[in-house]
Amino acid sequence: MALIVKKFGGSSVASTEKIMNVAKRVLADKKPEDKIVVVVSAMGDTTDDLISLAEGIDEHPYKAMYSREMDMLLTTGEQVSIALLAMAFQKLGQPAISMTGAMIGMRASSVHTKGRILGVEPKRVHEELNKGNIVVVAGFQGIDKFGDPVTLGRGGSDTSAVAIAGALKADTCEIFTDVDGIYTADPRIVKNSHKMKEITYYEMLEMARLGAGVMQPRSVEMGKFYNIPIHVRSTFTNTNGTIIREDYTMEDRPFEIRGVTHDEKVAKIAVLGVPNQPGIAHTIFSALAGANIDVDMIVQSIRNIEKNITDMVFTIASSDLPEAKKVIDEVVVKLNAVSAVFEEDVAKVSIVGAGMLGSPGIAARMFGALAKANVNIDIISTSEISVSCLIKGSQIKDAVNAIHEEFFPN
Ligand code: ADP
Ligand code: ASP
Ligand code: MG
Repeated sequence: MALIVKKFGGSSVASTEKIMNVAKRVLADKKPEDKIVVVVSAMGDTTDDLISLAEGIDEHPYKAMYSREMDMLLTTGEQVSIALLAMAFQKLGQPAISMTGAMIGMRASSVHTKGRILGVEPKRVHEELNKGNIVVVAGFQGIDKFGDPVTLGRGGSDTSAVAIAGALKADTCEIFTDVDGIYTADPRIVKNSHKMKEITYYEMLEMARLGAGVMQPRSVEMGKFYNIPIHVRSTFTNTNGTIIREDYTMEDRPFEIRGVTHDEKVAKIAVLGVPNQPGIAHTIFSALAGANIDVDMIVQSIRNIEKNITDMVFTIASSDLPEAKKVIDEVVVKLNAVSAVFEEDVAKVSIVGAGMLGSPGIAARMFGALAKANVNIDIISTSEISVSCLIKGSQIKDAVNAIHEEFFPN
């Protein structure tokens, strides 16, 4: 007997026909004694469509004042797909029951639209599995201490699936999606990117954090926490995908760079002409933290030594821009800064790989590839296993391809 958690993303359940195919595929792979939990996302572009609906009320629905109602709205998407998939199983003669995040005891922090999973109490899931049901769970949603629905950030169904797999002590967690594994770059952008057999949690977390949208970063952290291998594979074919695990099983690990990632959903903010004195960075970034806005690349530069003023430049997720504008406009007044500039036509391109630790010259090769492609670098940031460059948004495709060609020539 195996206990298996399978997650199907939005494109895998985009129509009732596809939902029926998901049910058939799960049953075709199921051994009679297997216990199966299926986690699903909202159908196709439903989440985006729901956001567009909210934009009919206010063009910026991601403001803090609406966040609870946004969660009430967005959680409906997954509720549609769980009901339909459970019905599809029943139609095929397989007992099944659908359950929301609340019903499976998916507890989340009370930060609407950006909730973090605090724990899962899967007693009811076990009971339903023991009755012979396939349990179909709504991804992307939890419940906070007030009993209100909370969503887990875009792509959050991945994290729901891995958290449930961990809490149930499942034998495997499979993430079914519209690509057949993790590639060295987004295969939609780089035509000759290569599929990986395996990748470590450490490197995958960095790739996900830097924009590889195939997995939500929190889901990889969760996999590491529970030490549960995650198999990312295709809904539409039967080939082996990529296993995300603690370490490589191969003897030979020739990788310096594991992948090239990009993120177009970033915005740049420059707070210009702030006094160069202690406490300035604290004032700016604690105001943003107070609004639950994560800050990424940060550069402080001296603009005018005589006047002793400086510029503070940083990036955030573009979905946070409307709220950040409000916060920063207040900070400009408070600090008596000259002005603030907000820019959306920016994107981040990164290289990721634990191998770069012992290999000097990797960053220089990345900058060289960008120079050859005539791409100007605005901000550079590094971590132990990555180098990122902020560039003009319109050049992102060329940049990713140029860097991929440098590190993965065909
Ligand atoms: P789902 O709806 O199944 O959750 P997503 O759209 O969230 O699917 O994730 C799958 C997509 O992730 C792929 O279609 C691909 O374009 C994108 N992607 C980005 N980077 C990578 C990568 N390095 N490897 C594979 N896919 C990637
Ligand atoms: N439906 C949600 C989203 O579009 C969650 C997910 O797909 O993982 O972000
Ligand atoms: Mg996804």
